[in-house]
Amino acid sequence: MLHFVIIGAGECGARAAFALREKGFNGDITLIGAEPVAPYERPPLSKEGLVLAHEPKFVAALERYADQRIDLRLATHATDIDPIGKVVTLSDGEQLSYDKLLLATGASARSFPGIVGTGERIRMLRTHADATGLRPALLPGRHSAIIGGGFIGLELAATARKLGADVTVIEGLPRVLKRGVPEAVAEVITQRHRDEGVDIRCGETIVAVEEAATGAIVRLGDGQELSADLVLIGIGAQPNVALAEKAGLAVDNGIAVNERLETSGADIYAAGDCCSFPLALYGGRRVRLESWRNAQEQGTLAAANLLGAGDSISAVPWFWSDQYDLTLQIAGLADGATTMLRRDLGEGAFILFHLDETGRLLAASGIGRGNAVARDIRLAEMLIAARAHPDPEALTASHVKLKSLLAA
Ligand SMILES: Cc1cc2nc3c(=O)[nH]c(=O)nc-3n(C[C@H](O)[C@H](O)[C@H](O)COP(=O)(O)OP(=O)(O)OC[C@H]3O[C@@H](n4cnc5c(N)ncnc54)[C@H](O)[C@@H]3O)c2cc1C
Repeated sequence: MLHFVIIGAGECGARAAFALREKGFNGDITLIGAEPVAPYERPPLSKEGLVLAHEPKFVAALERYADQRIDLRLATHATDIDPIGKVVTLSDGEQLSYDKLLLATGASARSFPGIVGTGERIRMLRTHADATGLRPALLPGRHSAIIGGGFIGLELAATARKLGADVTVIEGLPRVLKRGVPEAVAEVITQRHRDEGVDIRCGETIVAVEEAATGAIVRLGDGQELSADLVLIGIGAQPNVALAEKAGLAVDNGIAVNERLETSGADIYAAGDCCSFPLALYGGRRVRLESWRNAQEQGTLAAANLLGAGDSISAVPWFWSDQYDLTLQIAGLADGATTMLRRDLGEGAFILFHLDETGRLLAASGIGRGNAVARDIRLAEMLIAARAHPDPEALTASHVKLKSLLAA
């Protein structure tokens, strides 16, 4: 019987395991996860999950793994891959032979180099265990300093305010969300945080973060010191590539795969946050996405290709973030755009369309309350996938339905 091994029991790995069964695979599946809990959704960790839940939101109920004959190994690291002998070694010493291997090892929160102390009052957020550790520090009367005005930092800031904590966000760049989010959208978010009482400081250099007897101190480049009960580091994530590197697989800002998610090793695939891949829609440029939907879609695609489908990546990158009652959504990749057009959707919601010099729609970024931008972003996504050159006037005229542009 064939044996497929999946390393990494996150969104992507779990999705791939279930998709293998959905697609009729009858062989053995082993899903190896370093964390002690069954695969869960990470997005709630910085949002409502941090406010409400003590249990993570699981990708699937534990019984379903048994029902689907998925041998889920938790609290187990894969420590080595022998790509010639086709064997994976686990942290408990067990060796598993595989016919096909999928690496879905995800990413880890990036640490800050200037940390002095044990880290008890200086935290990062990537796992359910991290979130559980953070919760008590976000209570009323406590002060959190968040380093990094990216998505995780800002979502944490919104959640901390909801829980009643005081929050300062320190960002090195001149504005928050500098990577991938247009200024007009970032401004809405910044203003909303300020209205909610978050102290956002941009353009700051951080010299060191030090633990003190009762809290932590952030030392800024201009000599200022900021005291907080807790410092949260939210400066991005880096792909987990150590295992792949050790096995001699090609790595290029993530485990390098081709458009079918194949690594440089025979019968070894990689998918989700851990891999970089060529995106045909954008001229084959190599990208790595850290997004929930990408992890799901690539898990499903990897399963198809483990079964020999030979399908190529075709999805449009898509990302969302919730802060307070605002939802931001971004479809496509905006770098390379030369023109930006705005469509107002009412009640403060709007979408920015990003076009290249030929008028081709490359990306759309929207912000609004609740689901205000969801439908139009979905339509923009379809236009992006179709490599459409929509009429600029129609894009900006809110009375013209975006759907009508699809037929054009
Ligand atoms: C706090 C937070 C909020 C987020 N919010 C959003 C959002 O709003 N919108 C959005 O689109 N995306 C969001 N994301 C990103 C999204 O959650 C990720 O893109 C997605 O989880 C990636 O899934 P993955 O399976 O590729 O990797 P991961 O979820 O990182 O899972 C990989 C798993 O592999 C395990 N692993 C690694 N190496 C080994 C090994 N050697 N042996 C065994 N196991 C191993 C890891 O421990 C981990 O459990 C958020 C992420 C975080 C952390």
